[in-house]
Amino acid sequence: MSIDEDLEFPRYWRSLDFEQLNREFPPPPEYFRMVYRMPREQLRAVQDKRFLQTVARGWEIAFFRRHWGKSGMQPGDIRGLDDIAKIPPYSVHDIRESIERNPPFGDFMGIAPGGEHPIPLVLHTSGGTTGMPRPMLYAPQDREVMCILSARRYAMQGMRPGDKVLATLSLGLSNGGFAARDAIWKYTGAVPVMTGSGASTPTRRQVEIIKHWGINVVLGFPAYLRHLAIVARDELKMDPRSFGVHMLGSHIGVEDRAKIEELWGAPCYDSYGTNESGMMAADCEHKTGMHINEDAVILEIADPGTGKLVPDGEKGTVYITTLYRYGAPQIRFNVNDISALLPAGCPCGSTLKKLDKIYGRNDNMVKLRGANVFPEAVGVAVSEDARSNGEFFCIVERVGEDARDEMTVMVEVIDPGTHGAAVQADLERRLKEVIGVRVTVSPVERGALDSYTGTSQTSKIKRLLDKRK
Ligand SMILES: [Zn+2]
Repeated sequence: MSIDEDLEFPRYWRSLDFEQLNREFPPPPEYFRMVYRMPREQLRAVQDKRFLQTVARGWEIAFFRRHWGKSGMQPGDIRGLDDIAKIPPYSVHDIRESIERNPPFGDFMGIAPGGEHPIPLVLHTSGGTTGMPRPMLYAPQDREVMCILSARRYAMQGMRPGDKVLATLSLGLSNGGFAARDAIWKYTGAVPVMTGSGASTPTRRQVEIIKHWGINVVLGFPAYLRHLAIVARDELKMDPRSFGVHMLGSHIGVEDRAKIEELWGAPCYDSYGTNESGMMAADCEHKTGMHINEDAVILEIADPGTGKLVPDGEKGTVYITTLYRYGAPQIRFNVNDISALLPAGCPCGSTLKKLDKIYGRNDNMVKLRGANVFPEAVGVAVSEDARSNGEFFCIVERVGEDARDEMTVMVEVIDPGTHGAAVQADLERRLKEVIGVRVTVSPVERGALDSYTGTSQTSKIKRLLDKRK
């Protein structure tokens, strides 16, 4: 064995001043008496300082220098948070271009593997429905604050030391499962049990683990939480309400929360996070809107057409600015998710502004004869119908001599022989009301859509195939 003694092997535990970081970004329980209730002026001062640090960091990164330079922005133009709207937003298309221009990881991160003084890095990805997934390298500071932000969410929603947490989020390239694991393990005292999606651990086995190991918190996307409960009830003849689960953590958006809560006999909480920006907002037990981690992130809502900021309560596309990231800050990243800001105010006493639910996510929207259609909205209508188990899949294609765009919504019906025709008629009418265009509903048997959606196999469930592309 020969090794160059001068070679620098970085140590994670030396890479940060953890005590200092915990003072700056308090984890639970300190979070609840500090940031959570901070007077607005004091919070604004914290944001202002961190925003200017973030912009200064942006100038060190080639992507931002190029993007800002194109709009004529100069260092010094941004003197505080009041100037934020002067900064040109960017979207995932700009990130893809950055990656193409500078393969393999792009020039938007300001860090890279190796170098003379390497720092401990980890790579996860987002997206990937078309082409290569987008890489994201996390520096220790980025990863650690993300853990704290997630831990705040879990504690706010009732997770406590000693809880046993089933995390059904995917493991692998995707960040989902690992972000949850790191946060729970390092900052909550609860124990993550990483089953992953149905592809990593079959759903029946997941149910057995919940029962036999006394799991009392379950994390997962709404469709999988529903699937788990239905497999327990219908296939294993167990009542999920008898398991003693006291908290369900999810990204609910417009899905039917009440249905999931009824299946499990436990509250289900919403949250909003991305691979790039971490956990940004989450419900408290009162479910009045998601409290935003305002010391770590600034969320703005803009009109998707004009880019103009819209007043609180009005829907638009979400712009994200992170206030804690070293590796890859996001500075007015137009993530194209649809939501609205809500003013502070909640029986829990938090002074933080809130985010309304996510009405639709960027990659999912399709244009259908001039209307913007989110599969999420289709899902709401489907789940309202008790004759269906909530599983659906949309196919968009161009048909006929006149090349008309048509969407077919396949829906799993519990007893298609008896109810198929009625479900078709009722849902076609309801969907016309909800999304504004006429679509065709096709009732199918239970389980028939699994090969399209991947519900039993993946936590990144597919709801749409656009054959026009
Ligand atoms: Zn609250």
